[in-house]
Amino acid sequence: MKFQRRPLQFSLFYLIAAALWILGSDTLLLGLGFDRDTLSRYQSLKGFAFVLLSALVLYAVLMRHWREQWQVRRELKESEERLALALDSAQEGLWDWDIKGQKVFYSAGYCALLGYSPETFGQGQQAWVTRLHPEDRTLAEERLRALLEERSPHYESIFRLRHRDGEYRWLHSRGQLLLDEQGHPERFIGISSDITQRRADEDSLRQAAAVFDSTLEGVLVTDRDKRIVHVNPAFSRITGYAVEDVLGRSPDLFKSGHHDADFYRSLWHALEQRGSWSGEIWNRRKSGEIFPMWQCIRVIHDENGNLSHYVAVFSDISAIKRSQRELDYLAHHDPLTTLPNRLLFGERIEQALQRAHQDGLHGALLLIDLDHFKIINESLGHSTGDRLLKLIGARLGESLSGKLTLARLGGDEFGLLSSECAQADQASQLAQRVQDCLAQPFVVDGETLFVSASIGISLFPEDGDSVEQLLRNADSALFRAKNSGRQTFSFYSQEMTAQARLRVTLEAELRQALQHEQLRVYYQPIHRLDDGAMLGVEALVRWQHPQRGLVPPGEFIPMAEDSGLIGAIDAWVLEQACAQMVRWQTEGVPLEFVAVNVSSRLFSRGELDQRVERVLRETGLEPACLELEVTESAVMDDPDRALQLLQRLQALGVHLAIDDFGTGYSSLARLKRLPVHKLKLDQSFVRGLPQDGEDAAIARAVVSLGQSLDLRVLAEGIETEAQAAYLLGIGCSLGQGYWFGRPQPADEASAAYLRQLAQT
Ligand code: C2E
Ligand code: MG
Ligand code: MG
Repeated sequence: MKFQRRPLQFSLFYLIAAALWILGSDTLLLGLGFDRDTLSRYQSLKGFAFVLLSALVLYAVLMRHWREQWQVRRELKESEERLALALDSAQEGLWDWDIKGQKVFYSAGYCALLGYSPETFGQGQQAWVTRLHPEDRTLAEERLRALLEERSPHYESIFRLRHRDGEYRWLHSRGQLLLDEQGHPERFIGISSDITQRRADEDSLRQAAAVFDSTLEGVLVTDRDKRIVHVNPAFSRITGYAVEDVLGRSPDLFKSGHHDADFYRSLWHALEQRGSWSGEIWNRRKSGEIFPMWQCIRVIHDENGNLSHYVAVFSDISAIKRSQRELDYLAHHDPLTTLPNRLLFGERIEQALQRAHQDGLHGALLLIDLDHFKIINESLGHSTGDRLLKLIGARLGESLSGKLTLARLGGDEFGLLSSECAQADQASQLAQRVQDCLAQPFVVDGETLFVSASIGISLFPEDGDSVEQLLRNADSALFRAKNSGRQTFSFYSQEMTAQARLRVTLEAELRQALQHEQLRVYYQPIHRLDDGAMLGVEALVRWQHPQRGLVPPGEFIPMAEDSGLIGAIDAWVLEQACAQMVRWQTEGVPLEFVAVNVSSRLFSRGELDQRVERVLRETGLEPACLELEVTESAVMDDPDRALQLLQRLQALGVHLAIDDFGTGYSSLARLKRLPVHKLKLDQSFVRGLPQDGEDAAIARAVVSLGQSLDLRVLAEGIETEAQAAYLLGIGCSLGQGYWFGRPQPADEASAAYLRQLAQT
């Protein structure tokens, strides 16, 4: 017990005061000389007074002590309450272990942490030990033992204790070891708190951080002012920006310029309304490259519900896009030949059909099936067959460019779509081109292979208005082509097939006709109407066909124009006519001119003047003796170009005539500017003369037009004297027709001329 000085001082003081009182008062009473009785009475009174005074002093001292005790107790209680309140509000529990007495005090808060009241919690250290989680027991006990042995003053430990509900709670305990005067552990006191929730939060935070760092998706966090506050490693990997490049900056940094203001407006609108937005967005990497990404943006609110952050999570979808494109390509192309496959071909037909429908266009669908391809596969193996198909696809692809779609539909079947194929003839020419293209042998693995194809053609919109129907009809045409001996083509309509095949044969023959000199030039005389004198001739081409006899130009010129043979034919006629004219001149048949027809096709090409100039030079014919006839429609199709060409031809010195005049739509203003010398009134207006009023009116109009423009007018197709007379009557100066003479070979024409000379 601690030695207290004040009570001793007080007791000594009291002892001295009491002794002084007793001695002093006795001496005083004796000195006053009282008698014995009085003295004894006074002494009794003095004794009472002493006891009374002592009692009063004792009372005062006790009162003071009691007040102090009461004050201390009250303060202690208050501080205990405060501590309990503080522990309660901090949700902490207190324990106090009296080590020597082996007693443990658990506060109500401590017991409540585990769902108990102090009465039900249990006693002593056992109440704690038995509730420890088996996994934590060794460590917790070990720590406690170490604390007691090492006597370190501070203690901290985390372990799980079983709650009343059977679950375990994580407790965080901090305490202090108090030692006695000898340094032995005396008391161990501390507080514990339930950190189960905190640990779960920390766990999920740790997990979230791991996800944030390791996810393949880029994550970007901005504050409410859209300044970047956080990005993850994937962000840097995808965009190329390091963390320090972007912190504090605005995500506008990544804008690609790919989206308009409306796009961003609707994005922010969605964020404001729904708190989130997701979609495809094109951004810019640090390298400047623009790439597509799929992005989800979310608004984050703080505990008071105020917007605090935006979080954007995105993934780079450029690879997906690329593979989508690749997949799309694979889905629409044949892997062997890389040509479009049946699916894409069908789509293209669909589009072509729609366009044909809208714009009134025509097109053709060709199914090309290789003849006897099975034999190649069986005899040389499928890999050779595949290589051959590849070569065929490549060769066809090269030669069939332009507005055509070539596809491999499977096996040895190809499809060809021409969305602009105005006439059946063009379709048959296309089929012919395919066959010509395949006619050249293929070399596969050192083997020379010959292939041919049968082709079925359907035309649209005539033969069907759906993809299926067109394919089906082309297929039945193909079937027919196969049955008629292969290496040929068929139209869906049989009649068209016959016509087209004839044309194709004719075309092939015409090609040879030029080489085999089967073409002839006939000359038809041109006469002056007033005196009937023969002034010149018109050169007209004919084809001396070995089987069909003499074929008139009307039957092969249009085909020659379509196939491009016209250039060679016209050049040949021009040479023949000029050379013949020179021959006549030297033979003494001095005709004024020879007229040569020029196809509108050549006319629009524009190099005619060079060709004419060359022929004149080579034959030595005087330019003024050559008259070129161009049709009215050829001139009026492209008047400006025609004017230039005619001017160049005029500069050569040749004469120019407009053929078949009246059948086109001449503009008088234009006609006036053209450097022509002659109008040839088309024979259709001569046929009805002189009776037909309309023909007569047109004939008169053309003649007077010619006169007013200072042009000579020639009437074609004069078959009767009456026609000649009528035309002369209305002022037409020249005439041509059977009445004067039919087109005939050169020698007959010159004989006629000489005959006529002799008559005059
Ligand atoms: P075109 O230049 O108008 O030739 C006149 C045509 O009328 C010729 O027909 C001629 O035989 C025919 N004809 C002449 N007089 C009469 C007649 O009294 N009655 C009837 N019914 N017909 C008559 P052809 O020779 O058959 O030539 C037809 C067309 O072929 C020519 O019409 C011309 O446009 C074209 N043509 C002829 N030769 C050539 C040529 O070498 N090159 C070019 N590009 N076209 C040619
Ligand atoms: Mg003519
Ligand atoms: Mg004519």
